[in-house]
Amino acid sequence: MARNRAALGIDLGGTNIKWGIVSENGRLLAEGIVPTEPRNGPEALLAKLSGIAKEAQRRARSAELALAGVGIGTAGQVHRGSGAVKGATAALPGWAGVPLGERIERETGLPVIVDNDVNMIALGEAWLGAGRHWSDFVCVALGTGVGGCLIADRRVYAGRHGYAGEFGHMTVQLDGRECSCGGRGCWEAYASVTALIRMAGEMQPDGSLDDPPTLFARAREGDAAALELADKYSSYVAAGLAGLIHIFNPPAIVLGGAIVAGQGDYLLERIKLSLKRRVMPAFQSPEPVAIVAADLGGHAGVIGSALAALKR
Ligand SMILES: [Zn+2]
Repeated sequence: MARNRAALGIDLGGTNIKWGIVSENGRLLAEGIVPTEPRNGPEALLAKLSGIAKEAQRRARSAELALAGVGIGTAGQVHRGSGAVKGATAALPGWAGVPLGERIERETGLPVIVDNDVNMIALGEAWLGAGRHWSDFVCVALGTGVGGCLIADRRVYAGRHGYAGEFGHMTVQLDGRECSCGGRGCWEAYASVTALIRMAGEMQPDGSLDDPPTLFARAREGDAAALELADKYSSYVAAGLAGLIHIFNPPAIVLGGAIVAGQGDYLLERIKLSLKRRVMPAFQSPEPVAIVAADLGGHAGVIGSALAALKR
């Protein structure tokens, strides 16, 4: 009897590495999470990743699954042809230049596909999540930074090298706030959760609004300072989304990140209100661009990575 096919999906973030064994129909058969500990350097991180892959191979064997490959979504810019990491921020020191795909392939004997973490999340959402109703959509993840991906015809629009979709680094304020990329005034420096927390500290130096769930709870109760900040943040998010709507004319935008998962409808409604004022009417006709929350939650990256390996 033929064994069922499955793949290992790995979602590599600056804080944690999430992994899962995923079946062809997108079911998560086993999963785990380990701390990234990026300060230990790239060799330690590579050893950790191949350890996860070997553990998954053991588990697949004992469950009589045929492990077809490994998909890895990592922060940073990933070269499409080689699976090498070509750019990374301070969240993963020394990660730029690591031939990730090649190393894990050599150590596991399995085919490995590597892509940017938000591209993998967008693929997960495109196949099984909030994006499955559309063949084209824009995906934006609001987190420590602002990540993005354009899905065109159910595939990632990769650009020349595979680096396309860094929407967070559009300039929205000339000579504005410093950004993690080394530039200034990027959308990320205003629309990331990091930026929200920094704005909260500037508005209320006592730290009472620094925690986003508390901030939004107080805004919902009508607290004036919290409301002002929630509106300001929603407007920053909407300003960038309006630009993306005008550039790509998408039917939908899928928004991900813990803040969207936590503040869901309230945040989305504020963003939609702000978009109404910013987007040219033709783009909102016959109905407004759908603004929806990602719905695979914390699993989107693992599922997208695994499916990318299975569908290769
Ligand atoms: Zn930037």
